[in-house]
Amino acid sequence: MQELTHYIDGAHVKGTSGRFADVFNPATGEVQAKVPLASKDEMDKAVQIAAKAQPAWAAVNPQRRARVMMKFVDLLNRDMDKLAEALSREHGKTLPDAAGDVQRGLEVVEYCIGAPQLLKGDFTDSAGPGIDMYSMKQALGVTAGITPFNFPAMIPMWMFAPAIVCGNAFILKPSERDPSVPLMLAELMEEAGLPKGILQVVNGDKEAVDAILEHDVIQSVGFVGSTPIAEYIYGKGCSHGKRVQCFGGAKNHMIIMPDADMTQAADALVGAGYGAAGERCMAISVAVAVGDDTADRLLEKLVPKVEALKVGPYTSGNDVDYGPVVTAAAKANIERLVQTGIDQGAKLAVDGRGFKLQGYEDGFFVGPHLFDNVTTDMDIYKTEIFGPVLSTVRAENYEDALKIAMDHEYGNGTAIFTRDGDTARDFANRINIGMVGINVPIPVPLAYHTFGGWKKSMFGDLNQHGPDAFKFYTRTKTVTSRWPSGLKEGGEFSIPVME
Ligand code: NAD
Repeated sequence: MQELTHYIDGAHVKGTSGRFADVFNPATGEVQAKVPLASKDEMDKAVQIAAKAQPAWAAVNPQRRARVMMKFVDLLNRDMDKLAEALSREHGKTLPDAAGDVQRGLEVVEYCIGAPQLLKGDFTDSAGPGIDMYSMKQALGVTAGITPFNFPAMIPMWMFAPAIVCGNAFILKPSERDPSVPLMLAELMEEAGLPKGILQVVNGDKEAVDAILEHDVIQSVGFVGSTPIAEYIYGKGCSHGKRVQCFGGAKNHMIIMPDADMTQAADALVGAGYGAAGERCMAISVAVAVGDDTADRLLEKLVPKVEALKVGPYTSGNDVDYGPVVTAAAKANIERLVQTGIDQGAKLAVDGRGFKLQGYEDGFFVGPHLFDNVTTDMDIYKTEIFGPVLSTVRAENYEDALKIAMDHEYGNGTAIFTRDGDTARDFANRINIGMVGINVPIPVPLAYHTFGGWKKSMFGDLNQHGPDAFKFYTRTKTVTSRWPSGLKEGGEFSIPVME
């Protein structure tokens, strides 16, 4: 049994709390490692090391900090297969999907290479007689991030890359379900030239999270995970005077208009609904068909595609559409919710219950489920299921469909499938949801835009990555300066360079 570690001050460090969590291989159901759960003291030790290391790192000029990111990108590409394999083994997602998880993080690292430009301040010449005014963006100090199991490479990189390139130290508390890739990323950052103590990984559960939230030295906390925990962290972090951004759960609706290309819509729904076993915060979990005729035409195309989905372990390579869910508890919760759907009167158009895979009987596999005639009062509609379960709601008309999506408490992503530009434009303008796709089912913005939902999917004001991340991880200081007249310097004859 492998005993995982923390990564503190440039070294793998064994846990000392005596508490551990099991890390499973979701495909086989076996416990493959134990991850230490840090105590308050262990967290404090990492924070003290970070606080000591951070001022020197902030004093490194932005070009040199960006070069660490350049090198890190090379190393991520070098180790892509290794990272994807480690990720799939603990998470369960397919290998191409795991490589995508690394890649979408890498793209934010690439954006961070632009730090010298992004960190430039503003300058006003002669704001008054002999007076100049300028603002600068300074690092916060020690920052921290708490990340979910479903993107163990991408989301840590979305946080630590901008935090670190801005001159902060960063403490990562990854999900205890799949901690190996975050540990590997910390090693790679140091191989890329990052000084010790600037990126540390402290594994743990609520005790470690509370130690972060209560620690006076930590200046900011980023969180991605479920909404109840997001609300808790936002409230507690803010009450301890920290800058906090929390991204929560989702229930993403895709509206299918009568004029949509039904084959395209059905293809989009199988990928967006069942990819990664539905364990994506941008997964589509509700298809809203406008009109009964649209719903019937959609289901005619959709049902055979859902029935044909191939479920299996990541070791089957490209032959598998999605893998197991993350834990036995997640599987049991999905099965429970499916039963409530049946009990509350939804029609199970594709029944994935009782799915078993030969040779993987103890794996956490869930067959694909498709519900029709779902209504907004049902538990399967209201709750984030986070599994391979797609619900179809039948709306009377466009206004009804729009209202259904707008009335849901979550507001992460949404999509509309239509050939009518006017409807698409109206939808994009009026919908109260943060990320909108027009004939694009999973509209995850690229690295140079920002990522964030509305309503109960987000607590805070700045989004993840893109320009918002540079605002979140810096403070603005504005200087007003006037100089008495003094000596003028002599000439400098060789070109200054940055070696
Ligand atoms: P989770 O909320 O269970 O865990 C997230 C993190 O919080 C983990 O690091 C975990 O250790 C910690 N945590 C768990 N319970 C805690 C507690 N009681 N007190 C303090 N910390 C606690 O979420 P998850 O199951 O790992 O991830 C799935 C969820 O994340 C889904 O709801 C999904 O929609 C959401 N998610 C949202 C986004 C987004 O950008 N909005 C992205 C990815 C995932």
